[in-house]
Amino acid sequence: MSTLKKGDLSSSEKELFEVITAGKPSRLTLIPYGMTPLMHAAYKGKADMCKLLLQHGADVNCNEHEHGYTALMFAGLSGKTDITWMMLDAGAETDVVNSVGRTAAQMAAFVGQHDCVTVINNFFSRARLDYYTKPQGLEKEPKLPPKLAGPLHKVIMSTNLNPVKMVMLVKENPLLVEVEALEKCRRVMELICEMCIKQQDMNEVLAMKMHYISCMLGKCASFLKDREDKLDGLIKSLLKGRDSDGFPVYQEKFIRECIRKFPYCDVTLLQQLVRSIAPVDIGNDPTALSVLTQAITGQVGFMDAEFCTSCGEKGAEKRCSVCKMVIYCEKSCQKMHWFTHKKVCKKLQEQREKQEAESAKLRMQQSKVRCVCVCVCVSEESKAVQEAADSLQELSVESSSDGAPSDSAAVNSDPTSIAAADN
Ligand SMILES: [Zn+2]
Ligand SMILES: [Zn+2]
Repeated sequence: MSTLKKGDLSSSEKELFEVITAGKPSRLTLIPYGMTPLMHAAYKGKADMCKLLLQHGADVNCNEHEHGYTALMFAGLSGKTDITWMMLDAGAETDVVNSVGRTAAQMAAFVGQHDCVTVINNFFSRARLDYYTKPQGLEKEPKLPPKLAGPLHKVIMSTNLNPVKMVMLVKENPLLVEVEALEKCRRVMELICEMCIKQQDMNEVLAMKMHYISCMLGKCASFLKDREDKLDGLIKSLLKGRDSDGFPVYQEKFIRECIRKFPYCDVTLLQQLVRSIAPVDIGNDPTALSVLTQAITGQVGFMDAEFCTSCGEKGAEKRCSVCKMVIYCEKSCQKMHWFTHKKVCKKLQEQREKQEAESAKLRMQQSKVRCVCVCVCVSEESKAVQEAADSLQELSVESSSDGAPSDSAAVNSDPTSIAAADN
């Protein structure tokens, strides 16, 4: 057998490529256990290979795996969000279950791939939205003007539910910054929400998200109606913190109200949200935003990433140089927040300095305690050694005075006793 040089394909790989380039998707389920090449590529995290296979007609929903796994499940297990997205975009079904009754999102969650869970739970295909851009039944015009589908789809696909970010997404597209357009989009969101509830496999998560977006768009529309400064005023209201600690009360109340207005009262997700939020005083943790985000995106906790104080984007690194207590993704986000942050910045700085001083003091005390400990240990040790030595001496004194024969030589070698003998 000739050895392969680097970059050469093995005979089975060659065969696979021939099948792919010949565009014969039916022959792509050749591998044992019913595992298709697409499943393999997804599991191994090979994005280029997945793309190639999909382009050549690999069936994303092939379900002949012996344990009922799909390519989407393997993508979720791999932890690669881009591949998970690719499978969804190619039409992967999200509600298929494997032999133990788990969906792809549940499988990904089971192995801790929460970013993939987020992608799956928030996926809503453009094709499903485009349905509303065509007149249905007796309609003369579609519910959603086709030009709005793109910008609206971008809002739907956002996994950042911070209302400031949502308004920014609306604001960045002039087509959406118009009362009539917003009302149409809002209506479509409500229809999709209703569909998510009434379809056979109810999708509570997506229904809640659509409802939330609908509320957000409605808020934008009402601000556009009676304000000259368009959506900047809404952003300011959402960011404005209360005087005592800078907590954005309006934002919290807005999100709570959105949840309360969810029209399907007996939905379990709604009841869970209300139970988590209702007992919390405004300003305390958890915030309505964090509870809602966890419910919709599946993001558990906010531990391993820093989030922008203004817009909630992940991976923010720029810190306020004065208080060092708030972080932003961009300079523009800091600028946007300054009108309200400046009222508490000094106070936060003092708090931080006090905390730092206290923890430094604590560290000092701890090291002192350690030092004292060591000294005590040493002195106790030497005390113990001394005591042992004393008792040993007592022992030898006792034994020498009892006149035991073994000690007689020693007694005899005493110079005084010799002198005595000389006399
Ligand atoms: Zn930001
Ligand atoms: Zn600051």
